[in-house]
Amino acid sequence: MSEQQEMIRVEKLNKSFGKLHVLKDIDLQVNESDVVVLIGASGSGKSTLLRCLNFLEMKNSGKIIIEGEQIEKDTHDLNKVRERVGMVFQHFNLFPHKTVIGNVIEAPTQVKGIPKGQAIKEGKELLDKVGLGDKYDVYPSTLSGGQKQRVAIARALAMKPDVMLFDEPTSALDPELVGEVLSTMKELAKEGMTMVVVTHEMGFAKEVGDWVVYMHDGKIVESGPPAEIFDNPKEERTQAFLSSIL
Ligand code: ADP
Ligand code: MG
Repeated sequence: MSEQQEMIRVEKLNKSFGKLHVLKDIDLQVNESDVVVLIGASGSGKSTLLRCLNFLEMKNSGKIIIEGEQIEKDTHDLNKVRERVGMVFQHFNLFPHKTVIGNVIEAPTQVKGIPKGQAIKEGKELLDKVGLGDKYDVYPSTLSGGQKQRVAIARALAMKPDVMLFDEPTSALDPELVGEVLSTMKELAKEGMTMVVVTHEMGFAKEVGDWVVYMHDGKIVESGPPAEIFDNPKEERTQAFLSSIL
């Protein structure tokens, strides 16, 4: 991971909700074009970590450095930072009263002030890319869960982020729809998008991940290349977690 440009660096990140200490001295580095996969049991702090990286949650202490800049809410416009760090959630939260293309152009036109014609042109290209070239004009309610999630990915990409965070993007989907969303993500990875992905899809982690991070109880217990983590985990907790899910 050494030759690539550093995209995100986290140092000694701590986050509490009241008395609940959820993230404990998290150190993490994500390099350009890397796919980092976060795994761990429910409640271990994976979503909170992603949300801190996107400043949907505010850290209590530690550093979050994005593209070389230490981001603090007092010195940075967090909305601007969020434009660089896209996020896709488990529940897609599309606007039901807007068409697919309407959903995709909403943020570029409203937040970035991109002219509508240009946003539509770029939005259609993104929808073609996620395999929804024939669905521009339909409403989300007519789509399957997998299609909705691909619209959500196109919508996040429409802001031209430098890094994409995915929080269990396939967990709410029927099993037969998981594959199409994972292939879209794999394509994105192949094109060189920097990605941090929380998932229970270990096949994806092995095949697409460059680096796997195992979290337990708010701490990073172990991290390494997929082959190391899956085939030769050093920590007992990692071994126990993997045998519980595989
Ligand atoms: P994971 O994504 O790994 O399942 P989360 O980051 O969602 O874990 O949650 C970690 C812990 O923080 C859990 O105990 C959860 O209940 C708690 N938590 C998450 N968000 C909040 C919140 N907004 N307020 C209070 N507690 C929260
Ligand atoms: Mg979560």
